[in-house]
Amino acid sequence: MTQFDNSYVRLPDRFFTRIAPERAPAPEMVLWNADLAAHLGVADWDAEICAGNVIPDGADPIAQVYGGHQFGNWSPQLGDGRAVMLGEVVTDKGRFDIHLKGAGRTPYSRNGDGRAWIGPVLREYIVSEFMHAVGVPTTRALAAVRTGGRVQRERAYPGGLLVRVAASHIRVGTFQYFTAREDYEAVRLLTDHARARHFPQATNTIEFYQEVVRAQARLIATWMGLGFVHGVMNTDNMAVSGETIDFGPCAFIDGYSPKAVYSSIDTHGRYAYEQQPSMAHWNLAQLGSCFVPQLEDELGGQQQAIDALTEVLNSFPGLYQAEWRKVFGAKLGIADAREDDLPLIQDLLGMMAKDGADFTNTFRGLLDGSARDWMLDREIFDDWSARWQARRSPDWQDIAAKATPAVIPRNHRIEEAIQASLAGDDSKAKRLAEVLSHPFDLAEADRDLGLPPREDQMVHMTFCGT
Ligand code: AMP
Ligand code: MG
Repeated sequence: MTQFDNSYVRLPDRFFTRIAPERAPAPEMVLWNADLAAHLGVADWDAEICAGNVIPDGADPIAQVYGGHQFGNWSPQLGDGRAVMLGEVVTDKGRFDIHLKGAGRTPYSRNGDGRAWIGPVLREYIVSEFMHAVGVPTTRALAAVRTGGRVQRERAYPGGLLVRVAASHIRVGTFQYFTAREDYEAVRLLTDHARARHFPQATNTIEFYQEVVRAQARLIATWMGLGFVHGVMNTDNMAVSGETIDFGPCAFIDGYSPKAVYSSIDTHGRYAYEQQPSMAHWNLAQLGSCFVPQLEDELGGQQQAIDALTEVLNSFPGLYQAEWRKVFGAKLGIADAREDDLPLIQDLLGMMAKDGADFTNTFRGLLDGSARDWMLDREIFDDWSARWQARRSPDWQDIAAKATPAVIPRNHRIEEAIQASLAGDDSKAKRLAEVLSHPFDLAEADRDLGLPPREDQMVHMTFCGT
């Protein structure tokens, strides 16, 4: 029996709009996450429920309102334009939103159709479940459904719907929406709600902000360690819980370039790989400014509020650097990497960038000696390797094997799976999802999924779900 307990709808009416999902003509399950379903107590759900045609008992469907900076430009009103939140389920691991992405039009749809096509739905399912499997905080995927309808984009595509599970859908942009309207009472209510829900150890707003900053520092460092490029780090796509959210035109780096960008809409490289920490910092500054009004009273003035918030914001680079060092140190088999290990890490990345070495397979190749094969200048690599061998921890293999997966969701494989599904064959998507659910051990028979793309398989651009 599903235990719904919908705390967000207990916030004032101006936080959301009650709305039922639009009917899907002929729902068909494509990917179903049985483990997650069991954990959530929804093992009996079928395609009709997942597509929004049948509303389970206890659900109270809504669309949430938010605003956000999109590529730096302020949009005062966004919101769930193609998603309906069914409600919240409480489990022994906490409270989770269940969210139908691609469920039809809402009051926040603007000119959109409220729908998604099956391609981005499969991409988000596969990538978010991989992120979970490697231990990155992330929203999860319960189901990918074909709706039976058609969705018009550059051409007509089969409609899709993702059932997404998240610790919450409270975004930086949710705080910004109310702040822009000078609805400070709502900002205060939202702050208290999010604090109780995600960081109950924080006893006030400043401590809450500090926890959000810390969680983002950790999150972005784990992305960097995987060569992950989110692609649309707008403030409406940043969850204060610290989970990765809104997998749009995201991709993992094959041949390493710090400037890697895949999103077809990111023409200036605002959200390129190496930009991600500074973009997160920028987003966190926007969040901090939302807290000024409520802290003015608490701290006895605007300047005091700004000073306190600035101090927290300024902690981001140091926290991020420490996390980054930990992540990349582990990839080299170094437990608790120190400040003076940075040159060792940077020198390897420098060689990789120069030669376009495969990001994942170079790090993974440190385990079996094949990393050297990725380098054009083997002598320089051998010098580096001597330094590395002198420094790595005694149990370096254990550490390194847990820090770099043997297989990642490569863009050409995702595209291949999407194309197969468009042709009616879901076996490739199913295989990818299965193999990537245990990405640290790659069976001999699945070695092909670990290989980088050949020249003719390379995908240079990824399109959004919209
Ligand atoms: P995104 O860039 O995917 O995070 O979306 C930005 C905003 O556009 C959000 O408010 C979405 O709800 C909205 N949106 C995206 N796609 C659609 C669509 N097909 N129909 C309606 N709204 C959409
Ligand atoms: Mg979004």
